[in-house]
Amino acid sequence: MRNNLYRPTADFQIGFLNNIQWLLESSSYTSTYKFALLISLSNLAIESGIDDNSTYSVSYLQIAEQFIHLYWTHALPFSKQDPDSILRQSNTIGQIKVINCILDLQKEAKTIKLNTARILNTYKWESTLKEIARTIKTYPAKHLQSAENKSHREFLYHYDSKSKEIKLNPGIAYCLAKFSKIINKLCQQYWSEFVRKNRHNQEYFNEDLDLYYFLFNQSRQSLNMLVPLLSDIQHGYCFYCHNQIKGTPEVDHFIPWSKYQIDTLHNFVLADHSCNNSKRDYLAEERFYDSWLIRNQDYGKLMNNEGKSLGFISNILRSETIVRWAYQVAIEHNDLVWSPDKSNRLRTINPALLQNLRG
Ligand SMILES: [Zn+2]
Repeated sequence: MRNNLYRPTADFQIGFLNNIQWLLESSSYTSTYKFALLISLSNLAIESGIDDNSTYSVSYLQIAEQFIHLYWTHALPFSKQDPDSILRQSNTIGQIKVINCILDLQKEAKTIKLNTARILNTYKWESTLKEIARTIKTYPAKHLQSAENKSHREFLYHYDSKSKEIKLNPGIAYCLAKFSKIINKLCQQYWSEFVRKNRHNQEYFNEDLDLYYFLFNQSRQSLNMLVPLLSDIQHGYCFYCHNQIKGTPEVDHFIPWSKYQIDTLHNFVLADHSCNNSKRDYLAEERFYDSWLIRNQDYGKLMNNEGKSLGFISNILRSETIVRWAYQVAIEHNDLVWSPDKSNRLRTINPALLQNLRG
């Protein structure tokens, strides 16, 4: 157990939330970058595994990778009938640079699949990352904590134009990870309102298409390519109910997409339709946290080898930190967990059943 004394105080956490609210309400927005930056920082704070007052540094390249994931599907046409319907994410002239960079990458790699683009042309991928990193440093990172009336609150980090990274102030990584769900939901709301209000986009909203779903609710990759690998590992059985999978196997996000929206390879398990469909956005009950860790012990390396060639982000430690975070937050919030047992689908999480949580 880590020492609770070294966690940010309740007052600090409330101050943090006040400042987030101030930032979202008072900032001026010429594009959607600031929302993407806040979401990226909270994702990276989760991946840091920080559980106390520590400072934490994230490089602009790490943030750029997050940006590519966030914006990837935004570079696709909003309406399938109209190839030009790529939504405008800037109030000034033209499209934002990050989307143009992604379009350029998709064109050069001749694919709209994120994982294929990542491995097909690594040189282009790396140069795109660098270009996006520069953009983040010059625009949103510099201006994130400034309000429309030019007042500043550098509560997240002190901006240093000479540094290649952002150093989060003490306690901020903890708060970003703890409140990530609120932060993400708020940012997504502001983000989709910004896109909805943009006059250049109005003509595409006549059709009954769900903007919020288009922007945020779809996984960024095609997951079917993982079926053979996961099927081998699980010998064709469902990860949850252990029945032989009949019908089409489904790739399940062990930590649901709604809780963490960057796909990492080790977060996937194979399930039958019935389990996948009823689990939805819940965490699986405690014992599956252990089964998942054991699965990684036994097959993590194999997945690494196979998954990299499929273009997925593949890092066991990174996935394990995210999963530990998700269960920790669930305990703090007394969340429900899901069971494959039909007679007892949902109940409150029981921390006593999670021996592996704090290692
Ligand atoms: Zn099942």
